[in-house]
Amino acid sequence: MELKDRFLKYVAIDTQSDENSESFPSTAKQWDLLNLLVEEMKALGLEEDTIDKYGYVMGTIPATKGYEKAPVIGFLAHVDTSPDMSGKDVRPRIIEEYQGEDIVLNPSLTMRVAEFPELSRFVGHTLIHTDGTTLLGADDKAGVAEIMTAAEYLMSHPEVKHGKIRIGFTPDEEIGRGVDFFDVKTFGADFAYTMDGGYEGELEFENFNAASAKILIKGRNVHPGYAKHKMINAIDVACELNSLVPCQRATSIYRGL
Ligand SMILES: [Zn+2]
Repeated sequence: MELKDRFLKYVAIDTQSDENSESFPSTAKQWDLLNLLVEEMKALGLEEDTIDKYGYVMGTIPATKGYEKAPVIGFLAHVDTSPDMSGKDVRPRIIEEYQGEDIVLNPSLTMRVAEFPELSRFVGHTLIHTDGTTLLGADDKAGVAEIMTAAEYLMSHPEVKHGKIRIGFTPDEEIGRGVDFFDVKTFGADFAYTMDGGYEGELEFENFNAASAKILIKGRNVHPGYAKHKMINAIDVACELNSLVPCQRATSIYRGL
């Protein structure tokens, strides 16, 4: 299947994760895509195709003849989409041969080149975008589609020599739990790459820790007539707390008041 068709097939499946859920995966609908992927791997002839009780999907593109001893390379992507915006009923739009113009998502939302100058990089490309009412889900179904399309290609082109390649798909990356139960040993790659980035050809090899915390600060309310040295303003406490975070290292601190 062509990369574009595969991508459109995957974005039609709602896989939004939910940070308020206690289950793993956090939403049952993520199984829809996870189960589909393991079936597709089997149909393509991949080996060691598995899906475990947490939803992690793994599969193997076997080494081509004579390359069985090469290091095992892994490719990973996550199936879930962000809880920040709906991933249901996605209506992708396709621009063939993009000319560098502003992109009207809907009557009230336009992606302007002035605000997103990086759009000019994509002149002449085929662009797929959302209609602005949902996420597109390219994060990270683009990665999933790339990996599956590459797997299909490699399975049918044995003249392309390679060692054993492991493929892994994970749920719940968007809520910071994507690798909580990931079985690194079973995956068994010597080196692995996550296909979840920005520009073509970009390779990231380090990142900051994107852990988050919600802090609830309760002040003390006192009638203003008697408040001197007694009333405590929660915002003042939050500012003080924020000032204690080393500014070179913190990107932001969420304040729940
Ligand atoms: Zn992602």
